[in-house]
Amino acid sequence: MSEVSVDELLPGEYYVLTPDGKLYYPEEFAGGDEGFRALLEKEALGEKREFKRSPHIDYMKRLKLAEVEPLSDAGHLTYLPKGTLIMDLLMDYSLSVVRRIGGLPVRTSIMYDLNTPAIKEHASLFGQRMYKVKPFKREFVLRYAACFGQFALLRRHYLSYRDLPLYIFELADSYRYEQRGEVSGLARPRRFYMPDLHILTADLDAAMDEFKKIFKLIMSEGSKFGWTYYNLYNVVDGFVQDNFDFILDLVRSEGKPILIYVVESGKYYWVINIEFHYIDSQGRPLETATVQIDVGNSKRFNIRYHDVDGSIKYPVILHTAIHGSVERFLYEFLEEAAKMAKRGEKPMLPTWLSPTQVRIIPVSKAYLDYSYNLLLMIRDAGIRVDIDDRDVSLSKKIMYAEREWVPYIVVVGEKEVKSNKLNVRIRGSRGESLEMTLDDLIMRVKSDINGFPFRPLYFHERLSKRPEIV
Ligand SMILES: [Zn+2]
Repeated sequence: MSEVSVDELLPGEYYVLTPDGKLYYPEEFAGGDEGFRALLEKEALGEKREFKRSPHIDYMKRLKLAEVEPLSDAGHLTYLPKGTLIMDLLMDYSLSVVRRIGGLPVRTSIMYDLNTPAIKEHASLFGQRMYKVKPFKREFVLRYAACFGQFALLRRHYLSYRDLPLYIFELADSYRYEQRGEVSGLARPRRFYMPDLHILTADLDAAMDEFKKIFKLIMSEGSKFGWTYYNLYNVVDGFVQDNFDFILDLVRSEGKPILIYVVESGKYYWVINIEFHYIDSQGRPLETATVQIDVGNSKRFNIRYHDVDGSIKYPVILHTAIHGSVERFLYEFLEEAAKMAKRGEKPMLPTWLSPTQVRIIPVSKAYLDYSYNLLLMIRDAGIRVDIDDRDVSLSKKIMYAEREWVPYIVVVGEKEVKSNKLNVRIRGSRGESLEMTLDDLIMRVKSDINGFPFRPLYFHERLSKRPEIV
């Protein structure tokens, strides 16, 4: 493998950068694990591997999470009650992470006037994938990210150097007219929710400091959920040479090779843009999280701040989605479940995301009252619990709960009532059954969901009362 020096980097080309600071041509680079090889092939070598249909699409249907809506455009999903609950939990989680670092949530308009120079220019950089809306004579663009709304808001308000860095956040439904052949389930819809955070900083140095922090946060969020990101650094020609140590620091913290794409300067509004790629159950890389340093839009949108010496300056802005779109966040959890199935384990969602966390199954009608009392106690502890009170056999009820991936199944019969102990099937331990007290069960579920958001059930706690869409 011949090495490349920093001065030899050319715009329009990909390179591999290893943690020891060495640069290689992608076609010569033989190292890296399977995940990195997949990213390298897809992005740098242009090899189009054939992948089977992603299992998350079947899960989406089987678990009654989301459906394609034939009365709308392709890629506009309808979420059923269970899918809506999960999406809301993911959004709650994204918001909680952003609030922890000081993000200010806003809610802005979804459409912007294309005759405004700043919008027009920004849109022309984005290209053809816009939805346009034309009520009467005016022409609007549906937002493809939350940048417009936040920038438009900030340019109307006074900003001081004391306010920086300023974190502003929106969970924005966004619209991109993806090519028909590329539209695919949660991986590439045309309407998606973007947890879009912008960080205004005083200058490039301050922006680079914030960039490092966000980079670390994104990587640690990935490992918190058990997945590794493989990264593509898009860097502008000139910036990469001037800031090579900064880039190398990031690669060292990753401890594995990364892919660099050198971009000709002046083509985009950013100078560095990292795409964090998740590897799904088929070995396919997909971009999820992102962070960028934007040096062009504060001027374009006339966002200014008053510096300590009274001068007026343009801030440098970071764009980031710490978890990527909410759809891809969910896609990652479903693909993790597909990986479990591949390993011979029972596929499941983490307990905090499971629509039903505990299912109570009375073996017959005689145990309904006892079971319902249990439900009340578990519900009061802040756990999503329901009861299969339907008139069907025990084995059918258990099968049904398994099909819904319920993490804890409690079967109640004569033995349980007499002994005051519960028989609990735990999905995460290959469906093994454990005898435990009610307190043990509550403690176990609470420890699973500790630190994650909670919402109550979005549907009836009695299965006999649920319509088909649940
Ligand atoms: Zn943005």
